[in-house]
Amino acid sequence: MSGYKKILVAVDLTDEASIVVDKARQLAKEYDSELHLVHVMEPIAVGYAVEVTSVDIEGLHAEAAKHARNTLLEMGGNLDIPESRLHNLLGQPAREIRELAKELEADLIVMGGHGKHGWELLFGSTSSGVTHGTTCDLLIVRLPH
Ligand code: AMP
Repeated sequence: MSGYKKILVAVDLTDEASIVVDKARQLAKEYDSELHLVHVMEPIAVGYAVEVTSVDIEGLHAEAAKHARNTLLEMGGNLDIPESRLHNLLGQPAREIRELAKELEADLIVMGGHGKHGWELLFGSTSSGVTHGTTCDLLIVRLPH
């Protein structure tokens, strides 16, 4: 089997992300692959918040985006991944991950899955969303319940 040249790791920034990243690192070491990290922030539904005038939705959004960016930078720094390979995106996670994998010409996507029961629960909703329309390999790392 030929190895993977470019691996895209999808991280949700929870504590479990380190399990997914560790597995991807092992593979990257084995195949001498280029490692990329992606986190996708889902937009806060501004339309629903207009009635709630006391909530500064734009401020909240900016804070959340800053937190996501800093957490990804810290994660990448600990792994010696250059900033150019850390991707902070906004949108629907499964779609953004698929699109980025295409754009980067990644040959493997690594994600987590919880393995409870049923197809979607087995893979996690994000991972099962990524399977639809992805042309490269996809590794789903089993996470503890
Ligand atoms: P879930 O669908 O929440 O069970 O998540 C399954 C896996 O999808 C996680 O372990 C991550 O690898 C990935 N994932 C979930 N949400 C995001 C996100 N917002 N950005 C990037 N990856 C994500």
